[in-house]
Amino acid sequence: MPPSLPNSTAQRDIETLIHPYTNLKVHQDTGPLVISRGEGVRVFGEDGTPYIEAMAGLWCTSLGWSEKRLVTAATEAMSRLPFYHSFTHKVPDVTVDLAERLLALAPVKMGKVFFANSGSEAVDTALKLVWYINNARGKPLKKKVIAREKAYHGVTIASASLTGLPACQNDFDLPIPGVLRTGCPHYYRFGQEGESEQEFATRRADELEQLILSEGPDTIAAMFAEPVMGAGGVIVPPATYFEKIQAVLKKYDILLIADEVICGFGRTGNMWGSQTYDLKPDMMTMAKALSSAYMPISALMVSDEIFADMVKQSEKLGVFGHGYTYGGHPVACAVALETLKIYEERDIVSTVQDISPAFQTGLAAFKSHPLVGEVRGVGLVAAVELVKNKTTRESFDPKLGVGMKCAKFLQNNGVIGRAMGDSLAFSPPLIISRDEIAEMLAGFAKALDQTLEWLQVEGHFAP
Ligand code: PLP
Repeated sequence: MPPSLPNSTAQRDIETLIHPYTNLKVHQDTGPLVISRGEGVRVFGEDGTPYIEAMAGLWCTSLGWSEKRLVTAATEAMSRLPFYHSFTHKVPDVTVDLAERLLALAPVKMGKVFFANSGSEAVDTALKLVWYINNARGKPLKKKVIAREKAYHGVTIASASLTGLPACQNDFDLPIPGVLRTGCPHYYRFGQEGESEQEFATRRADELEQLILSEGPDTIAAMFAEPVMGAGGVIVPPATYFEKIQAVLKKYDILLIADEVICGFGRTGNMWGSQTYDLKPDMMTMAKALSSAYMPISALMVSDEIFADMVKQSEKLGVFGHGYTYGGHPVACAVALETLKIYEERDIVSTVQDISPAFQTGLAAFKSHPLVGEVRGVGLVAAVELVKNKTTRESFDPKLGVGMKCAKFLQNNGVIGRAMGDSLAFSPPLIISRDEIAEMLAGFAKALDQTLEWLQVEGHFAP
């Protein structure tokens, strides 16, 4: 339905904005859902309609929409030092405080922190550093990088090249050369008949080794991996997967870069996804919940060994020629620092461990619904995959847009989730209560039944 009022925000949006991850043609006709304010785990439309934000925005608003301490931290930082940078031997004091705090939180010993503004920029920086240090190491040919099918690492030219979703590359003339693709660890979709999770993990590790051998180990520098794949569909790694993948990487001297942009800061029930799945990364990227998304900020942590080679190379060249104007912005750093203090004071990891069974078992109960093929998740992140046939796992024709339709029903029931293909993702603020989870589940139950009814009426689903 097109927006009805000629001068409405929705109409002005249509006339002015380019929307990320949106069908731009459809948007011309439908316009956006305009959000005006937030409170707790809810956001409110212009007309005052409340929605449980069951995606924490974009997997990021971990403390919900009412954390006044973050507002105070931002206001104070803004009046004290609204901007300073970290170029050429200068730095805001609070940027150092945050770096120190992050290093203390790291799941494995990390050497140094580099600040940027978005997850994509942190990933981009990681890739540049991989190249930079292999030049320092006298290995100019060891430059290719591996990423997985369905990975999501961002949208800049380099990070979109690592992303393994066709929509991020098609007609953007991506990927750039030197990015190799290995299989997605989604057991439900790619496990073979009679294959155990562990056997599937072994097969994926064997495929990785074959890829490395066929390309030549001396040409491959690093692999990027999200501990739990987010935008690709909340894909939780199968048992033993990372143990086997890391053994292969180690054997061929290939760095592991953990992309913790979604998993970092409690989402999976530990401070880091790397702890949940025992990853020992050489570099880590983080963003989103680093500031509960109240300010744009991201970070990259690198090991001591990597930093030592960066020092060597910058000495040779006279400068480390990389950095963003707003990297380590004092207001963003102050907000992030306060966010980390709140996580510590409220023991956010225990909070997630405490509440997540209600979330996971509540969603798992939908397995008996005629449309639900798989429910997968860990901590406070999950996805429910809708299928045409539960026995054969056959998917619906993508043209039907079943996932989008279900997400729309969900929204009409007062809950915002996200469709990724026909999987519905949930990643609520980490402060969500049991009652709010129950409300979210009730909205989803209705949405599933409405989706089923719609499919039956349209003749696309027979029980
Ligand atoms: N890496 C991961 C794992 C992400 O989920 C995202 C965004 O969702 C990014 C990188 C890119 O972050 P940004 O959108 O801040 O550039």
